[in-house]
Amino acid sequence: MMNKEQKESRWLSTAVIAGAFVALWWLERRRPLRAASEPKLKHEARNLVVAGAGALALRLIEKPIAGPLAALVERRRWGLLKCWPLPNCLEAALAVVLMDYTLYIWHVLTHRVSWLWRFHVVHHIDLDLDTSTALRFHFGELTISVAWRAGQILLIGVSPRALSLWQSLLFLSILFHHSNVELPIKVERILNRLLVTPRMHGIHHSIIRTETDSNWSSGLTVWDWLHGTLQLNVPQAEIDIGVPAYRSPEDVTLPQSLALPFVPQRPSWQLLDGRRPARAALPLAPDHLLA
Ligand SMILES: [Zn+2]
Repeated sequence: MMNKEQKESRWLSTAVIAGAFVALWWLERRRPLRAASEPKLKHEARNLVVAGAGALALRLIEKPIAGPLAALVERRRWGLLKCWPLPNCLEAALAVVLMDYTLYIWHVLTHRVSWLWRFHVVHHIDLDLDTSTALRFHFGELTISVAWRAGQILLIGVSPRALSLWQSLLFLSILFHHSNVELPIKVERILNRLLVTPRMHGIHHSIIRTETDSNWSSGLTVWDWLHGTLQLNVPQAEIDIGVPAYRSPEDVTLPQSLALPFVPQRPSWQLLDGRRPARAALPLAPDHLLA
C-alpha cells in the first residue's frame, strides 16, 4: 500500500509528465525541427495505440515485479549501493545515474542482439520522429525489458523511491529527446553537454546505419561520450528518419507494426533495391552539434 506522501509524489510526477507531453505536442506544431512525411494525426493515433498496448504490458508485468523487488532490495540491503552507509539523497542520485548507464547498455543490446532488434525495430520504423514516437515501443520489447529492469534493481540496489524517481525522469527525458521541437541551436548545444536532446536523438533514428549506431544514451549524454559513440555533426535537414527496409507507409501501418517481431525479417539496413544508405564524410568533428 502507498502512504500519503507516496500518493502525492505519484500525482505530482503524473501531472508534470502530462504537462510536458502537452507542451511538447504544442511546440512541435509551432516550431517543428524536421518536416513530417506522414499526416500528423494519423501518425500520432497509430503510435498511441502501440503505446496503449505497451502501457498495458508494463502495468501487468513490470509493476508487480519492479516495485516489490525494490522494496525487497531495500529491506534486505542487497546491491552495490547498499554496501556503504550513504545519505538517502546521495544514494537515490547514484541509483538514478547507474540506472541510466545500465539502460545505455540495454539500448545497445536491443540493436545488437537480433531477436531483441526484432522488437526494438518497431520503434525505429516510424517514418517521423516526434513526442508520440517516444511512446511507440512494442509491448514485446517492454515485456522482455522487465527481466533487465529486475537485474538493474538487484545489482545496483535501487530503493522504491529511487526507482520511481528514475522512472519519472526517464519518461520526461524520452518525451523531450524524441520530440520534433526546434530549440535555438545555442540553447540545445548547452543542454546537450549534459542531456540527450532532440537533434542528438534524431541522428540515432537516421536510416544510415553508422548514424543509428550512435547516440544510444537515454538521459545523460556522458555515456556516449565515454564509449566514443557520440555523433552530433549531422545536419538535421539531411536526416531521413526510419529503417531502410521499411520505408513506405504500407510497411508501418498499425497491424504491420504489431506483427513485425513475429514475421520473417527483411535485411534492416538495405533499401528494397539492395542499396545501403550512406553519407559522404562529414566536415566537422563528431562532437559538434549542427543545426
Ligand atoms: Zn534505438
